[in-house]
Amino acid sequence: MGECIFCKIIAGEIPAARLIETDKVVSFLDINPVNPGHALIVPKRHVTSFLDLHQNELHVLMFIARRVAAAVAEATESPAFNILQNNGRAAGQIIDHVHIHVIPRRPDDGFSLGWRQLSYGEGELEPLRKAITARL
Ligand code: 5GP
Ligand code: ZN
Repeated sequence: MGECIFCKIIAGEIPAARLIETDKVVSFLDINPVNPGHALIVPKRHVTSFLDLHQNELHVLMFIARRVAAAVAEATESPAFNILQNNGRAAGQIIDHVHIHVIPRRPDDGFSLGWRQLSYGEGELEPLRKAITARL
């Protein structure tokens, strides 16, 4: 937390291109954007995972993400956008302060998420559905 770069941005100790701020969240431009206008939305409270967020933080975070997405898409004249949120190293999380990415997208932007589409084997899907449902 003491060394957290996003906490330092929130505290104003290091600069960032700020977009909007509330009492609970801040949004600023990503320093190394996938596309120009790539924005981050972060809670002011230092927590690592999406699962650590309180209900009121989640509400504000997603509400502000929606507003930022609309503004970024319009300002960059992008017809599309991705909202991404990485949790854990295996999912590509580098900064251990939870954040939402808003990435404006264009048909010719040369970026691909490399989404793959596996298939379930015979009898695989139902036990998994049950295991998940039992935990909800
Ligand atoms: P993650 O991989 O953790 O989901 O994404 C972290 C993001 O934070 C990356 O896209 C990276 O470019 C961005 N980032 C890292 N350090 C800084 C910084 O000091 N300032 C800003 N504005 N963005 C940063
Ligand atoms: Zn932090």
